[in-house]
Parts: sequence; C-alpha cells; structure tokens
Amino acid sequence: MSKDEIKIFCPATIANVSCGFDVLGLALDGVGDEMVVRKTDQRGVSIKKITGQDLPLDPQKNVAGAAVLALLDAYDGDAGFEIEIDKRIKPGSGIGSSAASAAGAVWAVNQLLGNPFTKLQLVAFAMQGEKVASGVAHADNVAPAIYGGFTLVRSYHPLDVVALPSPKELYAIVIHPQIEIKTADSRKVIKANISLEKGIKQWGNLAGLVAGLFTEDYDLIGRSLEDHIIEPIRSILIPGFDDIKAASMAAGALGCGISGSGPSIFALSKRSDKAQNVAAAMKDTYQKLNVDFDVHVSKINIEGIKVIKK
Ligand code: ADP
Repeated sequence: MSKDEIKIFCPATIANVSCGFDVLGLALDGVGDEMVVRKTDQRGVSIKKITGQDLPLDPQKNVAGAAVLALLDAYDGDAGFEIEIDKRIKPGSGIGSSAASAAGAVWAVNQLLGNPFTKLQLVAFAMQGEKVASGVAHADNVAPAIYGGFTLVRSYHPLDVVALPSPKELYAIVIHPQIEIKTADSRKVIKANISLEKGIKQWGNLAGLVAGLFTEDYDLIGRSLEDHIIEPIRSILIPGFDDIKAASMAAGALGCGISGSGPSIFALSKRSDKAQNVAAAMKDTYQKLNVDFDVHVSKINIEGIKVIKK
C-alpha cells in the first residue's frame, strides 16, 4: 500500500454506558468497519464505493464525507481524498455505525496529511458527520473511536474530551435485536427536563463509574452502571429488554443497559469466561422470545481506530 493510501479498522462503540448520557463511551475490538482512504489530485472528497449496506454516496449526506469536508474547511492547503467503506456495523444498531465512518474518515485523512490535527480536533470534525446522521453533533461515539478505551466528554462548549483508563479484565457483551432504531427517533422520546433527585443519582453513578475505572474496582463499576433517566423510557422500544437485563445479571454481569440509542443492549463483565456466560444467557433469552439477534463479546479496545496492514 502506498503512502498515499491507508486501510483502517473503525471500531464499533458503546455510547452512554448507562449513567453517562451523551458524555461517556467506549470502543470495542473485533466489531467494526473497514475503510480505504486515498489521496487524489481532485480537491475535496468523494465516496467511491460502499459495500455491506446501502448508504448515500453523496459526500454531504454520508457522515464520512461530511466529517472530511469539515476537516478540509479547517485545513490550510489544497487536498483531495476518495473513500471506500466496507460497512460491517449495521446503521441504526446503536453501536456507532455512523461514528465509525465519521471518525475513521477524518483519522485516515489526518494520517495521509502528516497529522496536522490533534485528536480533539478530529473529534470536532467527526461530530459534524454525526450531525448529518442524527441532527445532533454528539461526541460520545466518535471520541472513543478516535482515542480508544473509555472517554468522557467533560464539556461540549468548549469541547473537552478526557481519556479514561480501561481495567484489564473488563469485557463488553453486546446483543443486537434485528430491528432498527434511528438515533433521531429515539431522541424524540426523551424528556428535556429531569428532577434534581434523578440528577443526584445520575452524577453519583457517573462519578462512581469513573472512579471505578481508575481504581480497577469492578464492584464499584457494577454498582455505578445504573441509568435512572434515559433507560426507563427508551427500553420500552427494545424487545425483551427487562428479560435480557435480568438474565445477564443472573449470569454474572457487572451491569447491563442500552447501548447508545439502542436497540443493542450491552453488559460489562470481569474476565472472558464470565463474558461468555453472559453472552450465552442473553442468546438463550432471545431464542426463547423468538427475537433474531447478533451478539459480540469484546475486550475494551484501548487503541481505537487502527491501520490494517496488508
Ligand atoms: P448508529 O447509532 O448505528 O450510528 P444512527 O441512526 O445514528 O445509527 O445513524 C445512521 C444514519 O446515518 C442512517 O440514517 C444512515 O443512512 C446515515 N449514514 C450516513 N452515512 C453513513 C455511514 N457512512 N455509516 C452509517 N450510517 C450513515
């Protein structure tokens, strides 16, 4: 592969992680898209090919194109790129399908330009892609894709992203019932106001989770994986949510909640054997309920987007 072309793995991500609506996220291993980005003589960006899913080739409508256009706007020079996307994360699955493309595209372009932009700037460009997908420039999927591991969006204005440590034995399990929920639609069901009582519970849990990640305190991580604000409302849209949650907790999960805007459900667990037990319990539950699904068991991906060597 020449220095004018790069092939990358763009990881799936879990946003919100129960108590961190719009601010917390983590990157997965093994589940993700592949993307080839090439320098061209033609200024701007074009999407040459998309395999795996039917998505817009128009760069203004594809999140990868929109994110690169935001980067090129800020770039001091002339440059042009073409992109090929092998889409393996289904759009509307709740594991950051659009974020993988938006983050991957700007990460690859930055590499081909000799890294003029910081990770934080790349997050800001990728957020412009997310805006095309859901109408909201959220960063909780693109930040972990770009930084790897767990990330906290401490502030949106100004943008401030904090990379958090990932305990070594932490695994994520994701089950995706085969229905599509658009982020834009699942945002509509959320209330704009919360009570002080709920706020106190939520920021207690968010701080507890962050402390648990730093101290590798798996029990504290588990106790903190609660969501009193979004989950009670959004879980109604997800088939068998309560059954999956009960089964995964009985199988030893530290906690279980909605991945991003759903319908995927995630659980965290300590050690690979526990993670396999949790995955089996989730599968069994959906088989009994006759719900079709995909399931992924993954370590936390501390690298984020990476080059695929050929
Ligand atoms: P997810 O949370 O899985 O990313 P979203 O509902 O946020 O799902 O985003 C999917 C929407 O973004 C779809 O309407 C899809 O057509 C649009 N989209 C545009 N470009 C892409 C892309 N490269 N990858 C995924 N979705 C894209």
